[in-house]
Amino acid sequence: MNDVKIAIVGAGFSGMGAAIKLQQNGFEDFLILDRGSDFGGTWRDNTYPGAACDVPSHLYSYSFELNPNWSRSFSKQAEIHAYINAVAEKNELHRRTKFGVEVTNAVWNETDNRWIVDITHPETGASQVRAEILIGAIGPLCEPRLPDVTGIADFEGEIFHSARWNHDVDLTGKRVAVIGTGASAIQIIPELAPKIGHMDVYQRTAPWVLPRADREYTGLEHWLFRNVPGVQRLSRTGIYLAHELVSYGLTHRPNVLRPAHAAGKANIRRGISDAVKRDKVTPKFKVGCKRILLSNTYYPALGQDNVDVITDGIDHVTPTGIVTKDGVTREVDAIVVATGFHVTDSPGFEHIVGKDGDSLAQSWAKSGMKAYKGSMIHGFPNLFLMVGPATGLGHTSMVFMIESQLNYLVDFLKTAQRNDITRTEVRAEDEKVYNKSIQKTLSTSVWENGGCASWYKDEFGNITTLWPGFTFNYRKATKNFDIAAYDTTRVTATADAKS
Ligand code: NAP
Repeated sequence: MNDVKIAIVGAGFSGMGAAIKLQQNGFEDFLILDRGSDFGGTWRDNTYPGAACDVPSHLYSYSFELNPNWSRSFSKQAEIHAYINAVAEKNELHRRTKFGVEVTNAVWNETDNRWIVDITHPETGASQVRAEILIGAIGPLCEPRLPDVTGIADFEGEIFHSARWNHDVDLTGKRVAVIGTGASAIQIIPELAPKIGHMDVYQRTAPWVLPRADREYTGLEHWLFRNVPGVQRLSRTGIYLAHELVSYGLTHRPNVLRPAHAAGKANIRRGISDAVKRDKVTPKFKVGCKRILLSNTYYPALGQDNVDVITDGIDHVTPTGIVTKDGVTREVDAIVVATGFHVTDSPGFEHIVGKDGDSLAQSWAKSGMKAYKGSMIHGFPNLFLMVGPATGLGHTSMVFMIESQLNYLVDFLKTAQRNDITRTEVRAEDEKVYNKSIQKTLSTSVWENGGCASWYKDEFGNITTLWPGFTFNYRKATKNFDIAAYDTTRVTATADAKS
């Protein structure tokens, strides 16, 4: 049994960020556990062709680790992954990280006030880590969702999910089907279109895809970012404020976003000349209801003669092709599954078990995911969930939200240390009131009223993933640890006593 004060599960942006902030604030006794072989989380796993961030890099990076060397406004996966690893190295995170470790279970032990974390490693086998605090930094976009289509398991050609790209397969000249037209698919399709023989794009819902102001930074800009104090921060602030304006439309006044409809339609007209194809890819819901996608190359790719957009719905898959509901069979050599992730039903939730013996999945099964400030959950003492319920965004950088959570995390740890607190659990009533207010704000939002189905909603139809409104309000809400919302247990000279 390995004893640590804090165990962090996940070495992506949020887990690493937590580790760095812990170090900076004198909490050195922690261990990061990750099943991969490298830092980066989603930016390590998503290596599909065209993978890039649709938030500008100067904002999609840690405020405490600015990078003046971003090569372009919207960086590609390899550059982001390299940045993450450079930050990890600079902060010497390898010293406190175990890779190749699968966390199979994490159970709260009410007697010891500890989390017992079961882990397995291919070489060292099964063991346990015991921690006072568990930081769940598993990320909402890490468990690929495969479509529930009859026969798909029996397909005999190449088949893989966008987040598990098989680089050993050469798709040049092949007949390829892409299932899905979300954020990943619209980046993959333009990369594949020029090289494949034929591509069928299976679209269930046409997304809004707006032009992307992507360009390389000039030598002068790089020089300014490196040498003139404040220039990079100014650029970052400008990007931040421009993105925040969108949040007002998304949350309160969807009609403000009407110009985006025109921009989206113009993007379609520019890319596709065929009227039938144009009609197929024109969205039927309000912009912003699903994530707004950015691409200059998606529609031109769909417009190519060797690319068909199939909207008839998949009925089943045969060993050699896909049959749509109208009875048409299309033979293919490979299927790329770009159908997203288990977000509100992540398998990871089944393995975190709280004080009553219920897992997060069981606890949320009745009424959906909820947490207090996206971080702490009633019934799960001393668990801090990174990128938890109601922290997701549709308009700007998740790193901003992560850093807000990190402020809250550090203040929680300092408060606990100052007051000799060994057990912290958010009160059920505070969690309930907090989530009621989130749902009230969401009621006017485009996510609620925009006429679409999206992964932002859970099986009950509730939006449990998104932060509604300006991100600076979340920054304010997480500035200080509000201990009054929590039940705490303090160490006394003789024994622990409930306060
Ligand atoms: P996604 O946005 O959830 O898109 C999944 C796509 O698959 C949708 O078009 C969906 O159709 C379709 N689909 C799902 N099940 C299907 C089925 N059974 N049959 C046919 N089609 C099906 O997933 P994603 O593209 O992987 O992106 C997930 C999230 O990752 C994004 O929202 C974003 O937050 C993040 N991401 C970010 C970037 C970036 O640039 N920063 C890039 C990639 C991903 P419906 O629309 O009808 O559901």
